[in-house]
Amino acid sequence: MNDSVQFDRDHIWHPYTSMVDPLPTYAVVSAEGVRIRLADGRELIDGMSSWWCAIHGYNHPDLNAAVHGQLDDVAHVMFGGFAHEPAIGLARTLVEMTPPELQHVFFCDSGSVAVEVAIKMAIQYWHAVGRPEKHRLATIRGGYHGDTFGAMSVCDPVTGMHERFRAVLPGQLFADRPIARPGESLHPGDIHGMETLLAEHHAEIAAVILEPVVQGAGGMWFYAPEYLDHVKALCERYDVLLIFDEIATGFGRTGRLFACEHAGVQPDIMCLGKALTGGYLSLAATLATTRIAHGVSADGGVLMHGPTFMANPLACAVAARSIELLHDNDWQARVAAIEAQLLRELRPYANHPAVRDVRVLGAIAVVQTHDPVPVAELQRVFVDAGVWIRPFNDLVYLMPPYVIEENDLSALTGSIGLGLDALTRLR
Ligand SMILES: *Cc1c(COP(=O)(O)O)cnc(C)c1O
Repeated sequence: MNDSVQFDRDHIWHPYTSMVDPLPTYAVVSAEGVRIRLADGRELIDGMSSWWCAIHGYNHPDLNAAVHGQLDDVAHVMFGGFAHEPAIGLARTLVEMTPPELQHVFFCDSGSVAVEVAIKMAIQYWHAVGRPEKHRLATIRGGYHGDTFGAMSVCDPVTGMHERFRAVLPGQLFADRPIARPGESLHPGDIHGMETLLAEHHAEIAAVILEPVVQGAGGMWFYAPEYLDHVKALCERYDVLLIFDEIATGFGRTGRLFACEHAGVQPDIMCLGKALTGGYLSLAATLATTRIAHGVSADGGVLMHGPTFMANPLACAVAARSIELLHDNDWQARVAAIEAQLLRELRPYANHPAVRDVRVLGAIAVVQTHDPVPVAELQRVFVDAGVWIRPFNDLVYLMPPYVIEENDLSALTGSIGLGLDALTRLR
C-alpha cells in the first residue's frame, strides 16, 4: 500500500465509515465527461453523478469558465450586509423556474442545512403568528433529509440513525409511506396514515416534510404523485405547512424539472441542493412563499440563520451556469432517453434470482435485491468492470449524468448484470 493510501486509511474519515475498519477507497486523479480516472490509470464510467450532483459530467468547459470568471472578481464575501450579482442572478432564476408561489430564497451551504432552515422557517412562522405550540414535524417512513439533528429527526426512524441519538433527537411523527407506485392509483390505505396523524396531532404540527415522488437515500422508493395532492389537501384542512425536499429530485432527475410538478402541487417551503451547482461546489437553497417569508417576521422577528459561507459567489456563479446548461442541452429529451434505455436494459433483471424489484423513473434506476449486498466486494466487481456504481443496503442503483451516451449507459446496466451474478459467489 503506498504512503498516501495508508495515510487516508489511518487519518481520514469517509462517509459513514469506521476509523478502525475502514472500507477500501479508490484514489481519483481527474475526471472528464462521464469518466473518472484513478491513480492507477484505470478509468471508470460514472453511474452515480457523485451522489446525484454532477448532472453535466465532470470538468465541463462552461462550468469551469463560470468558476474561473467569478474567481477573478471575488471568491467570497460575507453575505451579512453585502449583496452580489451571482446570488441575485441565481435567486432570480430559482424564483422563475420553481413553482410560482415560491418567491423568497435562503442560500446555504449543504442540503442538510437547507432542511434545517426549512424546519426553522416553519417553526418560526407558527411562533410569529401566535401559535408556538405548532412545533413538531410529520413525515412518512423511508425518508432521508440529511445528517444534522433536525434533518435526522425526520429521516426514517429505523434506517435513519435514530437509535443512537434517541435521547437528543426531537420526537417527530411518522406515517407509513404510500404503496402505490407512479402510474398506479393510490391503494386504499395509502392516505390513511397521514390523515390520522394530522387529525390527531395537527394542533402541535408545524409542517409535513416529504421528498416528492422519489424517496432517495432512505430506500429509493418511488410513489404515486397523487399522494401529494391528498397531503396538500390535508395540510390545508388542518392548517399545517408543507415542505418539499427536492434536494435529490430537483433539476430534472425524475423527468420533470421538480418532482412536485408530477402532481402540480406547490409547497409552502422547498429545499434544493445536490445538482444545483452541477456538482461543482457545495450550495443549497431553501425557498418559501410570501405568506411564510412575511409570516416569519409577523412578530417583528428575523429568520434565525446565517452561515459563514452563505451565497458563496463561486458556487452561485457555477449554479447559474449549470441551470443554463440544463436548458441548452435539452435535459428533458436526454432524461427521457435515459429512462427508456434504463427500462429496456434493466427490466430483464427482474427475473434474476437475486432480485426482488426493478424500478425506473427519469434518470434513476433501482435494482433491489432480496438481501443486503456486500458493498465493498460488489464495488470491486464494478471497478474491475470499469464502472462506478456504489450500492447501499439491498439497493444497486444508477443515477448517471444526463450527458451519458448510449454505449456508456449500456456498460453500466451490463455491469449490474455482472454484479448480480457475482452475488452468489460473494456470499
Ligand atoms: C442528500 C440529501 C440531503 C442532504 O444533503 P447534504 O448536502 O448531503 O447535506 C437532504 N435531503 C435529500 C432528499 C437528500 O437526497
